[in-house]
Amino acid sequence: MQKIEQAEANIGLIGHVDHGKTSITKALSGKWTDTHSEELKRGISIRLGYADAVFYKCTKCKGAEAFMTEETCPSCGKKAKKLRKISFVDAPGHETLMTTMLSGAALMHGAILVIAANEKCPQPRTKEHLMALKISGIKNIVVAQNKIDLVDKKTAVQNHKDIEKFLKEFGFDAPIIPTAAHFGTNMDLLIEAIEKNIPSPKVDPKKPAKMYVARSFDINKPGARPKEIVGGALGGTIVQGKIKEGEELELSPGINNKKTKIKVVELNIAGGKIKEAVPGGLISIKTLIDPNLTKNDQMKGNIIGKIDTLPEAVSNIKMKINYFKREIADINIELKQGETIVLSAGTSTTIGNIVSMKKGLVEVELKVPVTVEKNQKIAVSKRDGTRWRLIAYGEVE
Ligand code: ZN
Repeated sequence: MQKIEQAEANIGLIGHVDHGKTSITKALSGKWTDTHSEELKRGISIRLGYADAVFYKCTKCKGAEAFMTEETCPSCGKKAKKLRKISFVDAPGHETLMTTMLSGAALMHGAILVIAANEKCPQPRTKEHLMALKISGIKNIVVAQNKIDLVDKKTAVQNHKDIEKFLKEFGFDAPIIPTAAHFGTNMDLLIEAIEKNIPSPKVDPKKPAKMYVARSFDINKPGARPKEIVGGALGGTIVQGKIKEGEELELSPGINNKKTKIKVVELNIAGGKIKEAVPGGLISIKTLIDPNLTKNDQMKGNIIGKIDTLPEAVSNIKMKINYFKREIADINIELKQGETIVLSAGTSTTIGNIVSMKKGLVEVELKVPVTVEKNQKIAVSKRDGTRWRLIAYGEVE
């Protein structure tokens, strides 16, 4: 039996739909990320998919060839040295609203941007994904220029130049690795680039615990007897500090938008129970909350923290707006008083109405209260025809 161990970092898979995010994840972890089929069958909206992978390095082989996901080097047969375990977070790219992508970005420590070599770069959705990373403060990315097997050399070189130009425009400096994920081509180069460019977050165990809730569920089987029913579960990532089994924490906004105390009955990661959890990877906490309140992701967007450290939720926020003026040229992105906008803060999403625009501050009345902290960056999306476009970020006053 292998020891159950938490991943050290969450790496997002981002990019346009069909560019090969899932095949990259599969090539690196041996698993598809669309694994929540049971939940999908129950008609619940598509959520973040994830898969864990362990990277190894051969101590004998040289160059990129030394990087692998196998414990034993396929080239020389020597036992490889373990580097680290990571979690891939796959944010679906095909939604009309980018909420899942934005909540996913709140959990990421770095990202792999997947761009297909046989399509024009950049795709509109890819631009939005880079803006989302900027808002979340993610600087470390690696580009997989995928489907390289489908184009000739000239096209590949031109596409590479287009990607470089696109990254520069958005202020990113990242290595571009040509890949053909379906055949496992250059996965060693990709792992090497991830190891060099996306470090694990530094953990400060002295900071008070804080965790973003990205999912919530009722883990009871249908028809369970009242005696057997267990409390609701909250899933997400710890952003600072650590959480221990048995301890009492608080949840904000909480039940009925009032801060709520919760007990950590059990801590789980993919693979089993753990006694203590730190940042990195996705974890779930079994609580004593009524499972009716946690089913179908109802608690998504909540923050879990040390008691007396979290603010109460608010239904009115004032923020300083920073437009993506340089990045968006095709529509007028200026906000107007009375306009309805979508705000994404951490893993929460809410609709709001602009009630005033004085002294450079935009004041928004929210439909659903959110928990935000001073200076927190909030993604702002504006209606453009039938869809919502990410056009700015606000900084909470
Ligand atoms: Zn080797």
